[in-house]
Amino acid sequence: MVSQPYVYKRHELAEPDWRRFPGWAEVSAEDWESVQWQRAHCVKNARQLRQVTGPGLAEAFFDDLERDQRERATMSMLLPPQMLNTMVPSGSPDQPGFTEAFYADPVRRYMIPAFSDRRADWPSHPYAQRDSLHEAEMWAVEGLTHRYPTKVLAELLPTCPQYCGHCTRMDLVGNPTPGTDKHKFALAREDRLDAMLAYLRRTPGVRDVVVSGGDVANLPWPRLESFVAALLEIDSIRDIRLASKALMGLPQHWLSDQVRAGMARLASTARSRGVSIAIHTHVNSAQSVTPLVARAARAMLEAGVRDVRNQGVLLRGVNDSAGALLDLCFALLDEAAIMPYYFYMCDMIPGSEHWRLTLAEGQSLQHDIMGYLPGFATPRMVCDVPYVGKRWLHQVARYDAERGISYWTKNYHTAIEQDDELALSREYPYYDPIYMLPESGQAWWRSLAARPLAGAAEVVTIAGSGGKARQDAV
Ligand code: SF4
Repeated sequence: MVSQPYVYKRHELAEPDWRRFPGWAEVSAEDWESVQWQRAHCVKNARQLRQVTGPGLAEAFFDDLERDQRERATMSMLLPPQMLNTMVPSGSPDQPGFTEAFYADPVRRYMIPAFSDRRADWPSHPYAQRDSLHEAEMWAVEGLTHRYPTKVLAELLPTCPQYCGHCTRMDLVGNPTPGTDKHKFALAREDRLDAMLAYLRRTPGVRDVVVSGGDVANLPWPRLESFVAALLEIDSIRDIRLASKALMGLPQHWLSDQVRAGMARLASTARSRGVSIAIHTHVNSAQSVTPLVARAARAMLEAGVRDVRNQGVLLRGVNDSAGALLDLCFALLDEAAIMPYYFYMCDMIPGSEHWRLTLAEGQSLQHDIMGYLPGFATPRMVCDVPYVGKRWLHQVARYDAERGISYWTKNYHTAIEQDDELALSREYPYYDPIYMLPESGQAWWRSLAARPLAGAAEVVTIAGSGGKARQDAV
């Protein structure tokens, strides 16, 4: 009998023993479960990482990390102990081979990028951009992106309890790095949040608000609760989604008494008004799903949120196989009651080439995970196409796999296209990582890069769109 490509097996969750790290050898379970302790002991630099791991992690890794921070990183380092503890969960710094295991670890690969991880030939795609999704261009008021007809994204704050190397909001979120300064909101927070609410009150066509950042776990709970309570007062708003990777990175936050009680109040009001509140989190690897994460998700469901959903990102070396994705989805669904929802293609920000997959790879992953999960929990692989929005990967209109250019269409006007009659007849490009292309495609990009002022219009025209593609789309 032939074997199945993937064999389902339940895996009981286990919290990796943090005491295997010399720096946490004396940390009690009580401290570990305290959100104050976790926040106070976040790892922010190589020196602090060395204090945790001790001499078991080779000095060469720290050199590699510090070089990345100086020359490539778009995000500063910030790791709650909870998240660091999920790296090499069954290994220990006092065992041989720990450094190699640390390098290979999927969570390490996106949370603590090293210089040697990145591509030397094409560290960035020529059309990579800060704010690659042009969210700020679509701000109806500062921090409120109105891209889709019926839904908006509210960026309440520019910080998170953890910083991911591939963050798509690297333009705005986190501390500056030597190579990347950060956009600063012009308005004070209270004025910004008031302006968002005022816009939503006068825009009844919007029914769905993604309350994000950054990460809402970094907003003091009373302020988040009052903002969501104000949203619940607006009749036209029927869906509220709170975005927090911290449900996984810092589950202690969502398990705190203050947050549980506050969420129960919000959920009760929402239920009485027929509104759905959900939490959207961001888990990329099965080993991140620990008992504390499962407890936090269940605590939120018990508090009355309608659903906890996962939006992961497809990243090479992290979750780029059907087995890794299915392991993750089953851990989420079976052990933590978190609904697999989306996997995004990694956005085209600077320095992300080594993480990004080709469209063909993403399509093939979608194909390969079908049929194992229940339909309602089978995640969709999506590409967030600049000026378009999320498209399922198989919706691509045309695909030049040799040059790695895919073309997409859309069926609505964004807020900045109200007077643009051609917006719905254009094709909008998205690009594969160049080093993954056949040699002829790579040569084409090299020749383009060698020419001065090779702009988006030229690429699109050369690629044969007949001038239909939006010329400022890249
Ligand atoms: S949690 Fe989200 S917003 Fe914050 S750094 Fe990670 S990807 Fe960016």
